[in-house]
Amino acid sequence: MALIVQKFGGTSVGDVDRIRNVAKRVLKTQAQGHQVVVVVSAMAGETNRLVDLANKISRDPDSREYDQLVSTGEQVTIALLALAIQDLGGKARSFLGHQVRITTDSAFAKARIKSIDASIIHEELAKGCVVVNAGFQGIDPDGNITTLGRGGSDTTAVAIAAALKAECEIYTDVDGIYTADPRIVPEAKKLDKISYEEMLELASLGAKVLQIRSVEMAMKFKVPLWVKTSFSDAEGTVVIQEDQDMEKIVVSGVSADKNEAKIAVRRLADRPGIASQLFESLAASNINVDMIIQNLSADGFTDLTFTVPKADLKGALRIAEGVGKEIGAQKIESDDKIAKVSIVGVGMRSHSGVAAKMFTALAKEKINIQMISTSEIKISVVVDEKEADKAVRALHKVFIG
Ligand code: ASP
Ligand code: MG
Repeated sequence: MALIVQKFGGTSVGDVDRIRNVAKRVLKTQAQGHQVVVVVSAMAGETNRLVDLANKISRDPDSREYDQLVSTGEQVTIALLALAIQDLGGKARSFLGHQVRITTDSAFAKARIKSIDASIIHEELAKGCVVVNAGFQGIDPDGNITTLGRGGSDTTAVAIAAALKAECEIYTDVDGIYTADPRIVPEAKKLDKISYEEMLELASLGAKVLQIRSVEMAMKFKVPLWVKTSFSDAEGTVVIQEDQDMEKIVVSGVSADKNEAKIAVRRLADRPGIASQLFESLAASNINVDMIIQNLSADGFTDLTFTVPKADLKGALRIAEGVGKEIGAQKIESDDKIAKVSIVGVGMRSHSGVAAKMFTALAKEKINIQMISTSEIKISVVVDEKEADKAVRALHKVFIG
């Protein structure tokens, strides 16, 4: 007998028939002799609807009331699923975040889970119940309802699995993690397994499937994390700790991220403190800088080029222009028509020539590389947004086939 946490996303609970199907799947798992804890999202589209309502009624919604509102979608689905399980003859009890004491910090709309009282869940399981928990929500030390950020039900599921020392299965509308986005690369293959680290690096592939924080938490607590579809019995992909087989594969995924923009600060004086002044100001405004490149010219000036999320481009430009004046930059340029294309694989640690092979593949396609950055298990290049899909296809062909 195992203890399993199963999480069903919005599309899997999108209507009454689908909720009934989830109930059947859960009862089937229980009938195989397992104890099942379920985490559900709101019905597909429901959280968006609630967010829209908040924005219609208020220009700048108060964050506490915003969470109070957007957390309600999950209350509907937990109760409906519990009713569906009971209707099929099973036992079920549904719980909101505060009822199983999922405590978080007070960062509304992006709260972090601090603790979960597993005893309540254990008591219900011991009675033979399926325990159905609301995803995405918790309660802060002052008793306010908080939410964990969009896609946060994944993180709820992993946190509960960690608290119960259980495995975690995320049921969604795709049947696993692929070597590339199948809409861009028709030959993309489903992976049987992938390491936590690779999954984190493949954010732009995986973020649509898993909330990044859920992967970070799974890695921290070593929770095996399955991604499966709720529409068939296909095996799915398991996200686990790195093993020896994984090291043999040089590249396990190719991704493109079209959500970043580039800013170049030209001809700065080459002296200590310049970079710190610029990036401290960006950090103070909570702007997440990703790639940074500094070039030194022979005449004592430097160029600083960096990328930020597209949504932060305006703010980042304002800061760069302000600081640029103080530090004597001669020109500031930006470009939001870029894409970051990455290859990821733990095998890169033990293989050489990977970067060269990547650049050659891009050169053959006449794709110009604007920026390059590398980490132990990832190489990223910035290219023109229009070339991103072509780059992904070329790299997939060369490295994965
Ligand atoms: N319902 C929330 C959302 O749409 C949480 C989730 O689905 O994971 O973001
Ligand atoms: Mg999701």
